[in-house]
Amino acid sequence: MKRAGIHLVFAGGSLLKPWLLNILACPICKEHPLTVHIIQVESNVLKDSASLAKELVIHFKKGVLSEPSLKPVHNLSSSKDVDKWLAAARNAFASLAKQKPTPTTLQPLVDFLHRLEVLEGILRCEKCRRFYPIGSRIVGVPELLPDAQRDKEADLAFLRKHKDVLPEKLLSGSKPFALKS
Ligand SMILES: [Zn+2]
Repeated sequence: MKRAGIHLVFAGGSLLKPWLLNILACPICKEHPLTVHIIQVESNVLKDSASLAKELVIHFKKGVLSEPSLKPVHNLSSSKDVDKWLAAARNAFASLAKQKPTPTTLQPLVDFLHRLEVLEGILRCEKCRRFYPIGSRIVGVPELLPDAQRDKEADLAFLRKHKDVLPEKLLSGSKPFALKS
């Protein structure tokens, strides 16, 4: 029942928030972080941004926050917020070399990690080159499935749908399926 974890995480019907990138790993080779290509995104209104910042301090101290996961993020959407909030999040992490993690110093991470919701995109493991669709069958839901449980036709159709924005390396050089170049 390798899929159980995935279903539990999304049982509430919530969409993929970049916070999840802190803990996602390739289900096959366990590599972390995964590269994310954001194709379509939405931003939501946060009711209690201050509490989320406090929570991030706890996550940081427990080693849950992953600075490396902020590096392989590619914004292929038209949203300028993604770039702005990602830059703020990276800067906040960089500032921790000189400042302590407090709700104030980690506040800039809140927008990127919690306000964004990725409706469609691709996760990719650069180690084993597998790609995993986000929002292919259900909007906002990443499909981190073992090869045998994947739907080849659906996965290839998803790559074709976004072939104009996705990099050639991903389209023709991915596993377990790739588009012919
Ligand atoms: Zn992998």
